[in-house]
Amino acid sequence: MAPLIDEARLRQLHARLMEEIRHEAADTQAYTGRAAFSEMVMNAMDTVDRRCFLPEEAAYTAYVNRPLPLDHGQTISQPYIVALMTDLLGLAPGDRVLEVGTGSGYQAAVLAQLAAEIYSIETVEDLARSARRRLHDLGYANIHVRHGDGWQGWPDEAPFDGIIVTAAPEESPPRLVDQLAPGGRLVVPVGRVFETQTLMLCIKDAETGELRSEPVLPVAFVPMVKPKV
Ligand code: SAH
Repeated sequence: MAPLIDEARLRQLHARLMEEIRHEAADTQAYTGRAAFSEMVMNAMDTVDRRCFLPEEAAYTAYVNRPLPLDHGQTISQPYIVALMTDLLGLAPGDRVLEVGTGSGYQAAVLAQLAAEIYSIETVEDLARSARRRLHDLGYANIHVRHGDGWQGWPDEAPFDGIIVTAAPEESPPRLVDQLAPGGRLVVPVGRVFETQTLMLCIKDAETGELRSEPVLPVAFVPMVKPKV
């Protein structure tokens, strides 16, 4: 028989997670330049239930403010980092967003609360398939998941107002920069695996098209893989 789930306890854990995100946002202000994330971003984090993106047996660990393992050696990002990266994108309701690294689909679901259309690419076919099914079952009609190589972006759907990369490349992928709309923002952790990576915010100037990049925070992400040729 399946163990009984204490829903009231899980709601408490979710509420505590929201508090922890608020505290960590305040604690990292010296790096990020923001003491709090926007109310819209916090509402999106409150709406999306992280437990839906993890195996059933992980119900009680789902609300810990830490990355957790997914299949295929990948990880679902730390909720605070999901909130920070979403906040950095500064999304508006009509925006079109590209995500590289669908993983569980959790970050895509958060983005879908704030923007019009989300395009998400995942290189591991099995993860792409299960995230697509999960997001469909959860009722998301504005998230499009594709199995493919994120280095190429999604040229048919470009340009994007926001691009978020949830695996770390050693340098910013140039094709992604090309697919950014004027005034658009790219949020990407750059650096080698097992070395300190830096979360970068890159903004494409609306007039000149020039890219302005600023470091935001030291981070640790799984590597963005190069496809085998
Ligand atoms: N955003 C995810 C976390 C993803 S972890 C979530 O919310 O759950 C990073 C993901 O990036 C992994 O699933 C990994 O397979 C994927 N990835 C790595 N290199 C990639 C590439 N070149 N193209 C697309 N996806 C890639």
